[in-house]
Amino acid sequence: MSKKVRVRFAPSPTGGLHLGGVRTVLYNYLFAKKHGGDFIVRVEDTDQSRYVPGAEEYIFDCLRWCGLEPDESVQHGGSFGPYRQSERKPIYRTYAEKLIEQGDAYYAFDTPGELESMRENYKTEQNPSPQYDHTLRLKMRNSLTLSKEEVDSLLTDGTPHVIRINMPGTGTIAFNDMIRGEVSFDMSTVDDKVLLKADGMPTYHLAVVVDDHLMQISHAFRGEEWLPSAPVHVRLWEKLFGRDAMPQWAHLPLILGPSGKLSKRDGAKYGFPVFAMNWTDPKTGETVEGFRERGFLPEAFINLLAMLGWNDGTEKEIFYMEELIEAFSMERVHSAGAKFDYEKAKWFNHAWIQRVPVEGLAMRVEKSLGGLEGLGSLEKIVGLVKDRCHLLTDFAEQTSYFFEYPKTVDVAAIQPKWNEAKTDFFRTLMQRYETLAEWTAIELETSFKSLADEKAIKPGELMLPLRIMLVGGKFGPGVFDIADILGKEETIRRIEVLTAQLTNN
Ligand code: GLU
Repeated sequence: MSKKVRVRFAPSPTGGLHLGGVRTVLYNYLFAKKHGGDFIVRVEDTDQSRYVPGAEEYIFDCLRWCGLEPDESVQHGGSFGPYRQSERKPIYRTYAEKLIEQGDAYYAFDTPGELESMRENYKTEQNPSPQYDHTLRLKMRNSLTLSKEEVDSLLTDGTPHVIRINMPGTGTIAFNDMIRGEVSFDMSTVDDKVLLKADGMPTYHLAVVVDDHLMQISHAFRGEEWLPSAPVHVRLWEKLFGRDAMPQWAHLPLILGPSGKLSKRDGAKYGFPVFAMNWTDPKTGETVEGFRERGFLPEAFINLLAMLGWNDGTEKEIFYMEELIEAFSMERVHSAGAKFDYEKAKWFNHAWIQRVPVEGLAMRVEKSLGGLEGLGSLEKIVGLVKDRCHLLTDFAEQTSYFFEYPKTVDVAAIQPKWNEAKTDFFRTLMQRYETLAEWTAIELETSFKSLADEKAIKPGELMLPLRIMLVGGKFGPGVFDIADILGKEETIRRIEVLTAQLTNN
């Protein structure tokens, strides 16, 4: 029987969650749900020098906003915990020692100064940054070069040391990647990575393998930047748990910005968000804007991330979560980098603004407009203007004239063609509107048009003035729909104000 599908997202809590990180979560999530499996979030916080307070909480908040709830995690519990690596510290040493016993790892006592001299002394033109590897390890101070007695006494004295993997130095190591097919590495270029640090904490390399094993991970999906580490991980799997136990791997393509790998700096430079939600660096106080705050719907954010490097083989672009789960397959993820296009991202958001139920949309808009509670007609308003909005934040500008008298009124757009006949028309219109039987868009339009007919003015010449009177500019949805929502009193007041102004000029 094949293993139960168990996948994991393994973030290091070092800062904001990049959209590439959310895409990794999403592909994990889709795969787990498709195969009736579990989605686990494991916090990889063993590098204490990079730990940033608040980052872990923030990551979970982002997942919640995206609707990508884990089945097991620090916050969700589960029977494979603890899910925070710093709380698993005692576990890792046993495995590192097992490797030493087998001859697959060794103690290294080199001081930072000695490592520095090694890099200086063995530097050549062909090899400007020598590594601690099969060519140099026998020149260093470690349990391969020191006698057993020396090693024992150094350990008993509590001499600071690390444990390094003993990589073979010759041959190749290969594995099958679900996206890339067979990937093989020349072992002579792989260095003896540190597995356990002087503070007793494992490095990522040891911890990821041990935890993927203990948490019974069946498939490990991670960013392409981890591909160079794969030979070390394959070796660890072979030596600790056997190759057959190894999860199936997929290395997800990079997300590219306008100039190479998409970075936080690209966001600032080109004016688009890169993080899922606003992230404030606790040290500098600097805030980097998120997709949420920019006015993206989580549905759109998920949809656009799904399409960054994957498609279902057809032209289909808009997917509900259930459809993504149904259609997703790792084999259809491209191996080449996926280009992020902000204009296309807004296109997705616009499409989702049209799709989500208007009640829910109105609630979200109300939040983003702030302080506009109790507006019974907000749903109607949102429904009317949503076609004009790419971001939730666009609603503020597109709806402000419903709530207050227009801030600016483009009188210049109608003044040159204003005349006595128009003054007369709008004065009469106000009287008709005053006594209109039913205040509906249709009644308003019928009454307007029949008056235009009576006065022998083309309705086309009167519509723009009416729009400018009500909205302040040449934009917005149908002008009679607007008047319908504004109500009798406000509509007449706005017509009155501008008619008076234009007539006096
Ligand atoms: N902790 C690694 C990171 O921060 C996770 C890599 C992996 O998923 O194996 O990206």
